[in-house]
Amino acid sequence: MFGSPTTNGTATVPTPRPRDIRDLLNAGEPTFSFEFFPPKTEEGLKRLWTVIREIEALGPSFVSVTYGAGGGTRDRTVEITEQMATDTTLLPVAHLTAVDHSVRELRHLIGRFAAVGVTNLLALRGDPPGDPLGEWVKHPEGLEYAEELVRLIKESGDFSVGVAAFPYKHPRSEDVETDVRYLVQKCRAGADYAITQMFFDADDYLRLRDRVAAKGCETPIIPEIMPVVKYGTIERSEQLSGAPFPRHLAEEFEKVKDDPEAVRELGLDQAHRLCERLLDEGAPGIHFITFNQSTATREIYRRIASDRAPAVAGARP
Ligand code: FAD
Repeated sequence: MFGSPTTNGTATVPTPRPRDIRDLLNAGEPTFSFEFFPPKTEEGLKRLWTVIREIEALGPSFVSVTYGAGGGTRDRTVEITEQMATDTTLLPVAHLTAVDHSVRELRHLIGRFAAVGVTNLLALRGDPPGDPLGEWVKHPEGLEYAEELVRLIKESGDFSVGVAAFPYKHPRSEDVETDVRYLVQKCRAGADYAITQMFFDADDYLRLRDRVAAKGCETPIIPEIMPVVKYGTIERSEQLSGAPFPRHLAEEFEKVKDDPEAVRELGLDQAHRLCERLLDEGAPGIHFITFNQSTATREIYRRIASDRAPAVAGARP
């Protein structure tokens, strides 16, 4: 088990911490990971580090930091993941997108990550800055699809690479079948795992997993979970996940919508139930979106850890 002690006859020695998401997933126990975004302000950065330290205390399997659609926060992804790699016990994954980068710049960035000890990257095409559904225009000397970025990273060194997967298909894909075909292509280009877009119904994840498996692709697909802690999230669900919030779950929230504390408690319960079902169905782990706040995701993680201890990668009592 990741991070747990093993016995060598007489003494108990700590298991070395894997530095690679591939190794973690191959170990066969569920991974628990948390996603942050690089804040725009110094104040936001200070708050983020408080949250990072709170998450670190849980001993998660890994953490990830998103890559901005453009402008000022992109260097911050390098700086934050560097600091995670050097000053914490965390295993950082840096997201990297092809938006507005030439291949030369991407190579340089990949080298920068490697130089600061970050060898786990999530390879993404990214969305056009400003309007995510606007026209995608490739950099004249850049890349068209995430699949090419996977290849570029893999050619550049010994990196463990993840990609994005979409339970409801990517909004630009013609249909689910085409979407899955390209996901499998990304995996065959060398991706070691995929992380999904958030979703709220386990069956949507399971259908995606089945469709990928039916193409003979065994790449682990980690579900991404975001607990609903405010009623407004349900209204934003389609924008966040690509699909309307499931009707049967929305009905549960409607009953308590005027009581913010009850909404939060129900959101935690639903997310906990969703995680349990996914893990029971063999999901390789859970990736939590935190929005740089840790209270809700820490609470769900604790509930899962107390249900499942000791079979949680990185759990501490
Ligand atoms: P691709 O895999 O390139 O797919 C883009 C579209 O092209 C899809 O419709 C796909 O089906 C199609 N396609 C793919 N390959 C081919 C091909 N060979 N030929 C023809 N069509 C093809 N965005 C950020 O800006 N920063 C982040 O940090 C970030 N993190 C994310 C993390 C996760 C877990 C997820 C799920 C998404 C994240 N995104 C992030 C959003 C992501 O960048 C966008 O959804 C983007 O539009 C798609 O990225 P992709 O890597 O899936 O692209």
